[in-house]
Amino acid sequence: MIRIDFNPDQLESSEDRKWWANWSTAAREATDEVISNWEDWKERHDQDPQKAGKFEPKWKSSVWGDLKEWLLKNVFHYKCAYCEIHMPRHYNDAEHHRPKGKVTYADNSHQVVAQSCDEKGRKLSHPGYFWLAYNWKNLLPSCELCNSGKGKQNQFPLVKSNCYAICVRLSASEITKLKSPPIESRMWPGAYFLSVEDLNESEDPLLLHPYLDDPRQHLHFGPKGIEIAVAGSPKALHSIRILQLGHSELQKARQRAQESAFKDYIAACFGGVEISEKVQRAEQEVAKYRRGEEPFSAAACDYIDDFKKTLGK
Ligand SMILES: [Zn+2]
Repeated sequence: MIRIDFNPDQLESSEDRKWWANWSTAAREATDEVISNWEDWKERHDQDPQKAGKFEPKWKSSVWGDLKEWLLKNVFHYKCAYCEIHMPRHYNDAEHHRPKGKVTYADNSHQVVAQSCDEKGRKLSHPGYFWLAYNWKNLLPSCELCNSGKGKQNQFPLVKSNCYAICVRLSASEITKLKSPPIESRMWPGAYFLSVEDLNESEDPLLLHPYLDDPRQHLHFGPKGIEIAVAGSPKALHSIRILQLGHSELQKARQRAQESAFKDYIAACFGGVEISEKVQRAEQEVAKYRRGEEPFSAAACDYIDDFKKTLGK
C-alpha cells in the first residue's frame, strides 16, 4: 500500500470538476435515502423487533461503482488501493473501508459481530456504517482478493473493540470540537452520524487507509517483497492479516517490481560525471514509483531507499 494524496477540491480540469459535482449530488441523495431507511426501520424495530426483521436497505451500487471506475482511471493508475496489484479489468464494485452492512473483528481467530449503541445509548449489533456507503473517503478501488472471499469482507478492527459508534447524541459545544460536520438525524434531533475523520478519532481503526494514513510509517517491504510491520505496528499487522499481504504470489510480484526499479536506478547511476548528477538521474528513473504509478510502488521505493541507506545517502 502506498499513500495517495487525493483531494477532490483540487481537481484541475473543468471536466473532472463537473464529473465530481454530479457524482457528489448522487452520493448525497443516496446517503439521505439510506439514513432515512435506517431511521424508519429503527422506529419499527423499537416497537416490534420481530416484525421489523433485519435492516436491509436498497443499495445504489451504481453510485460507488461509478466512483470506482473514475478513481481507478484518475487516481489509482488502475491499481488496487490496498495491495497495489494492477487491475486493468475489474468488476464494477468498490470496497468500503468501513463496511456498509455489517461489522466484524477477529477475537481469538473467530469473527465476532461488533456491538454498538443506538441514538438512545442502547446496545445493538452494529448494522454497518450505512451512512458512509456513498462517502468518497470510505470508498476505495480494491481487487477481489483484498475485498472478498478470504480477504477483508466485513472486518473492521479497532484498538478498543467497544468503541464502535452509529448515531451519537452531541451538545452544541461538542459539535464545535468536531473535525468535520456530522449529519444530523431528521428523526432524532440532537443525534448525529459522524464523519470519517471524527470516527477515526474515537474509534482508532486498525486497517490502514491510503488517503488518511501514511502506510510507509507502518508497513515496510524488505528484500524478496517480504512485508514487515514497522516497529511491530498493530495497524500493519492487522492490515497484513486482513488483506493477506503475505501471500507468496504477491511477495513474488513485489520482488519483481523491486528488481525492475533497482535495475533502472543502477543503470542511471552510470550516466553523468558528478555524483550528485548521477543520484538525480537515478531518482528520475524511479520517480514513477515515488508517484505510485507502477504496480507495487511501495515495495520498489522501500527497496531503493534501503539500498540508499547502505550507501549512506
Ligand atoms: Zn488488492
